[in-house]
Amino acid sequence: MQSKVMEHEALKKYKPVDCRHFIDGAFIDSEKKVNNINPATEDVIGTIAIGGEQEVDRAVQAAKRALTGPWKSLSSFERSSILRRIGDEILKRKEELAFLEATDTGKPYALALEMDITRAAHNFYFFADYLTSMGTEAYQQDEKALHYAIRRPVGVVGMINPWNLPLLLLTWKLAPCLAAGSTAVMKPSEWTPMTATVLAEICKDAGVPDGVVNLVHGFGADSAGEAITKHPEVDAVTFTGDTKTGTAIMQSAAPSLKKVSFELGGKNPNIIFADSDLDEVIETTLKSSFLNQGQVCLAGSRIYVESTVYDEFMEKFTARTKELKVGDPFDEKVNVGSLVSREHYEHVLRYIDLAKEEGGMVVTGGTNRPDSLDKGCFVRPTIITGLGQSARCVQEEIFGPVVTVMPFDTEEAVIGYANDTKYGLGTSIWTNDLRRAHRVAHRIEAGIIWVNTWYLRDLRTPFGGMKESGVGREGGAHSFDFYSELSNVTIKL
Ligand code: NAD
Repeated sequence: MQSKVMEHEALKKYKPVDCRHFIDGAFIDSEKKVNNINPATEDVIGTIAIGGEQEVDRAVQAAKRALTGPWKSLSSFERSSILRRIGDEILKRKEELAFLEATDTGKPYALALEMDITRAAHNFYFFADYLTSMGTEAYQQDEKALHYAIRRPVGVVGMINPWNLPLLLLTWKLAPCLAAGSTAVMKPSEWTPMTATVLAEICKDAGVPDGVVNLVHGFGADSAGEAITKHPEVDAVTFTGDTKTGTAIMQSAAPSLKKVSFELGGKNPNIIFADSDLDEVIETTLKSSFLNQGQVCLAGSRIYVESTVYDEFMEKFTARTKELKVGDPFDEKVNVGSLVSREHYEHVLRYIDLAKEEGGMVVTGGTNRPDSLDKGCFVRPTIITGLGQSARCVQEEIFGPVVTVMPFDTEEAVIGYANDTKYGLGTSIWTNDLRRAHRVAHRIEAGIIWVNTWYLRDLRTPFGGMKESGVGREGGAHSFDFYSELSNVTIKL
């Protein structure tokens, strides 16, 4: 694998980075370290400092001091230009960042470049603009009173992040946090710490005052993650990750009544009616099933197809899935890279075995990696049929390149299947019947509903999940509300 990476002349100059904490404007180490592994080669590529209560406390104190330092006196236009400079710097270093993201996660380099890194920069540009154009609420109460809301920073925000879209999701939190004038203590996933480390450097280069952006590496429970969630001087915690971890964080944040925002797991249905444009459906379903090796919270992992087009769908979808190339993330022709770690690879393979035990049929994919690869955490895109609605593989989030497909007969039945889950994150509805599209959308229990598309985002819209998929919404004004405190001022006239 490494030799293929080295074939890419332009990428030769980049090297994996050793990951140290970034506290009060300086990189610092910990005595405790673990190895960082590239999942596609299973080689050790560097080290990660492992922080705990002590490092987190230093970071929180720095973030608290920074709230009343030079950061506080910057005008919104000055903050906005700092955000813009961070975006510029990300784009200037985009090949390097995409190299690090692909090496850390195993995802295709081209995907990292086009999606993760480009959108990370866009997160800063979006909130830089939003910050200088947003208004506030004001109400006139007859001739009696005038009410208006003022906004101030919420304070020190703990940011706990997953490994699937490391830089994209971290910047989705950091950009609005800085826009609102708050300060941050970030903890990336222990599996994918490299781009967060470079982001800390970029923030400093872009003129973010010391202490405003801090980074502590480490694990979750009994480590840096938990230390952030229970620190009494952290005012708010934003977390993206597994639903079970969300429960633990909520408990740990409860004694100090922190504000929380949770973006959690999903088991998202794709509902395909017979009147949809099947070829378009299939091309988008390939993405919603296997993009980023299926490790996307919004992945459409439960596919429901109207019975009259089920056979045609299966034939075309299976044929296109078999054409996807699995392998070296740095090979331009590769569509599906490696899963993020050996632990996660084994977790996904266990679900494929479970699907067979539950009576399912593996139509394509399964455990065997392509012959050309002798190591790495690769799982071929996998389609499973024949499972009932109560099967664990239909109910539980697998978070890999594995989808189940089931036929349905009526609109009523498929709405029932779609809602029959503890999750409520995303849904795609495919139909050319306008009335049905609205009708079904209004009855689906999910925070994000697409009609005839998937993953089409506008950063102004509310983003988040219902049921066990999340708490709160992010995006545009929703993000601003989380990273600020609103006070209402009433003036008697
Ligand atoms: P995870 O919950 O295992 O870990 C996420 C982060 O939480 C890591 O940084 C980890 O160190 C930390 N953590 C773990 N236990 C902790 C604890 N007790 N206290 C504090 N921090 C703790 O999730 P993951 O495996 O990294 O990510 C995959 C999950 O994330 C999937 O369920 C996926 O659906 C979800 N996700 C959701 C969204 C969304 O927007 N809804 C986006 C991406 C991923």
